[in-house]
Amino acid sequence: MSDRYQGFVQSPLGRVLVKNLGLPDPVRLDRYTAGEPLVDGVVGLGGRGRLAGPLPEILDGLGIASTDASGGPGDTTFRGLVLDATGLTSASDLVALRDFFTPLMRSLTTCARLVVLGTPPELCHGPERVAQRALEGFTRSLGKEVGRGGTSQLAYVAEGAEGAVASTLAFLLSPKSAYVSGQVVRVGATGTTSPGQVEDWLRPLAGRTALVTGASRGIGEQIARVLHRDGATVVGIDVPQAASELQELMAELGGDHLTLDITGKDAPQRIAHHLQEKHGGVDVVVHNAGITRDKKLANMAASSSGDRWTSVLDVNLVAPERITRELLDQKVVHANGRIVGVASIAGIAGNAGQTNYATSKAGVIGLVDALAGELPDGITVNAVAPGFIETKMTAAVPFATREVGRRLNAMSQGGQPVDVAETIAWFANPASTAVDGNVVRVCGQMMLGA
Ligand code: NAD
Repeated sequence: MSDRYQGFVQSPLGRVLVKNLGLPDPVRLDRYTAGEPLVDGVVGLGGRGRLAGPLPEILDGLGIASTDASGGPGDTTFRGLVLDATGLTSASDLVALRDFFTPLMRSLTTCARLVVLGTPPELCHGPERVAQRALEGFTRSLGKEVGRGGTSQLAYVAEGAEGAVASTLAFLLSPKSAYVSGQVVRVGATGTTSPGQVEDWLRPLAGRTALVTGASRGIGEQIARVLHRDGATVVGIDVPQAASELQELMAELGGDHLTLDITGKDAPQRIAHHLQEKHGGVDVVVHNAGITRDKKLANMAASSSGDRWTSVLDVNLVAPERITRELLDQKVVHANGRIVGVASIAGIAGNAGQTNYATSKAGVIGLVDALAGELPDGITVNAVAPGFIETKMTAAVPFATREVGRRLNAMSQGGQPVDVAETIAWFANPASTAVDGNVVRVCGQMMLGA
């Protein structure tokens, strides 16, 4: 979908107006190209905690060049910075944040990646808990001021999970996280500290099967493409009306398709049977299919033209819950499997006219909370919560609302479906076993909600 304003601000007249009128200035975000190195440049490291020792080797294993940046920038321009803040055990230690980042802020490339590593506060006590919780305010603010397409994240890494951060750093430091900023993610916080295995970082899903619902278009299509790029055999599901687009895409990706309405009474059984019979089970399940039927609650009564409440809840929440339950009960999900929900920032912040949708999407977050840490054999459950993503769904939003959605975020632009897909691919990575119970917003750090 096109964003004409973004094209305009790159023109000579646009540059003048942006400068003089203080208009939003969206930069072209770097995005990952298949086969390229994860990070095209140097990452500066600092801090003295549990992760400082292993960090250079972990990054080296990902093909990412790093250097100690605690002495200031020298002549280096940094593509990213990582501060190990796990050693900060009281409020007075927090000055280390300023001491590390301030001298380096003018030596960053565009689309720079800033990452702070901490200890989950819920696993700390007393002054350490206070200090670790404080990191959130720092990283979220930094995301709002870094500018020029830069991002800032906080990864809370549980003790014992130091060896399990590679897939998370690969995502947070690379252009794969182009539209993810101001997020707080947890590694190992639900008790699993095993990293999981990945043989080839360019094709981490080789030999694995991934189910994607609503795969024929929009975000679902990009999820299918990215999981295929990462080596998975994709099984796409969509409604009979979308059968030809679905078949075409799955043929292109060498995948498989199943045409059905996920709200059908026997849909969970049919999906489980198909996956078991044709693929011997499944490794990654992405519940992407979703619908909106917006109306203020006062106008939401069931009518002859359809029940907006029930249809939205059925597709967005009840179906993912039933399908997940069936796949787990029938043991169709392999060990080290991944279940991924697609929530929405509406499910976090609420949205006028979307009581039905926001209920369903908050319920998806509830599904993550209910299952995280409870699943056997290294199976994880996480969700993405997209903000304003450029799709047919958002192209249909009235102009003024659409412009607000696009600009009211730290990137001053909408995200692309691929940004949601890359986040899901991080969850899906076999090396993300310790990444469990997260809800990560893909929203360019939107001003709505936290
Ligand atoms: P979309 O409408 O372009 O695609 C949704 C797909 O799901 C379609 O192919 C549709 O046919 C399929 N689908 C709908 N009902 C189904 C059913 N009962 N059974 C099987 N398939 C069904 O939407 P999108 O923008 O790509 O959104 C994908 C997901 O992302 C949805 O869950 C949506 O709520 C969520 N989301 C989107 C945005 C955004 O800005 N576009 C923001 C937040 C969340």
